[in-house]
Amino acid sequence: MSNQSLSKRDLSVLWHPCTQMKDHESSAIIPIKKAYGVWLEDFDGNRYLDAISSWWVNLFGHANPHINAALKDQIDHLEQVIFAGFSHEPAIKLAEQLVAVTPPGLKRCFYADNGSAAVEVALKMSFHYWRNNNQAQKTKFITLENSYHGETLGALAVGNVALYKETYAPLLMEVITVPGPDCYHRESGESWADYSTRRFALMEQTLQQHAESVCAVIIEPLVQCAGNMRMYDPIYLSLLRAACDKYQVHLIVDEIAVGFGRTGTLFACEQAAISPDFMCLSKGLTGGYLPLSAVMTTNKIYQAFYDDYHKLNAFLHSHSYTGNALACRAGLASLELFQQNNVIENNKRLAAIMKTMTAHFIEHPHVAEVRQIGMIVAIELVKNKLSKEPYPWQERRGLKVYQYALTKGVLLRPLGNVIYFMPPYVISEEELYIIAKVAFDGIQWALKD
Ligand code: PMP
Repeated sequence: MSNQSLSKRDLSVLWHPCTQMKDHESSAIIPIKKAYGVWLEDFDGNRYLDAISSWWVNLFGHANPHINAALKDQIDHLEQVIFAGFSHEPAIKLAEQLVAVTPPGLKRCFYADNGSAAVEVALKMSFHYWRNNNQAQKTKFITLENSYHGETLGALAVGNVALYKETYAPLLMEVITVPGPDCYHRESGESWADYSTRRFALMEQTLQQHAESVCAVIIEPLVQCAGNMRMYDPIYLSLLRAACDKYQVHLIVDEIAVGFGRTGTLFACEQAAISPDFMCLSKGLTGGYLPLSAVMTTNKIYQAFYDDYHKLNAFLHSHSYTGNALACRAGLASLELFQQNNVIENNKRLAAIMKTMTAHFIEHPHVAEVRQIGMIVAIELVKNKLSKEPYPWQERRGLKVYQYALTKGVLLRPLGNVIYFMPPYVISEEELYIIAKVAFDGIQWALKD
């Protein structure tokens, strides 16, 4: 088996996600034979450094010995069992630990099997909570400009990235979209905190106007990842929590991408010292091994559904693979690694190295901003540095960086004209250096004309 033979078979039967399949007429699809640590290896023996944690899921490297051993043990006991009327130890233990590590007040865990499904659950629970509390007029959701919450119809509706959303607009529920706190747009000399605070006025205004009909505000805390890794100050979250309380609206925090240490703290919410009413988790939840998601919520919400059956107040949402035992066991093994290896503390050193290694990018005549929160660094490429005029999307500059990096053994997957790194936490200083060097050379190459 070679790259070529597998790629040919792949392209004759498969349809890949988030891909214009015709692109593969000119660029190869890469079949991976095995992976270890931060490295992927294809069938021709080429290696690729996974600088984006395989779509932001992997935390402790591929083929992590600790997670592998846990899964090998689990598979001999229980792989999957119906999760209504039945339960199992990994699901119980993981829920106990999630209650312990998530912000105070989040005492209940509802499992689903991917990020979008978790968002659907949170939206439905919020709506249903108000309905069970005789507030059926609350039917709307407030969302931020440039937000992303997944691809299923509910999750897509509360997102705001036109590239994914626009085509399906006629199918989507109407939401209230508020201009965001994205600090890329701050005035020169204005601090992140000042800009985010200033932008909060628009949210406050919207809440004041619409609270009566609104179930919840949904937000990605600190980093809008799929929206080009745009970042904002924690002050926005503190203000939002207070306003949601004031106007009697739920706060749904989508930590699917940023949870489990990506922003420097275990959860991004910690940086604003807030507890949401719902927290959506997925991706890193299993260390990047298996699909699983969880919606953490409060006892107050839970109690609104807890009633005699004939009142028909139960939350009847379900997925066949809810609380899959292998996935839960991987989640437990991943949390063990956080505890055993003092990961959050060690990541401070990695984040500092990432900062040093990308500091010079800003001197490039077509780099408008280098921004970082914790273990996420993003580099914004522009046509005109002064006016921040972007490169036309049709030029696909980011794709050129991607293609260049692959030839040098690094997997970057730019978002439009934004190059970013979000590596697994087991990366070494030397490997970080490789990413930074290849990214810089790739930028030079992609922007040379
Ligand atoms: N929310 C956020 C913030 C995400 O980044 C993503 C995935 N990139 C999702 C939700 C959707 O998760 P999934 O792809 O597992 O459906």
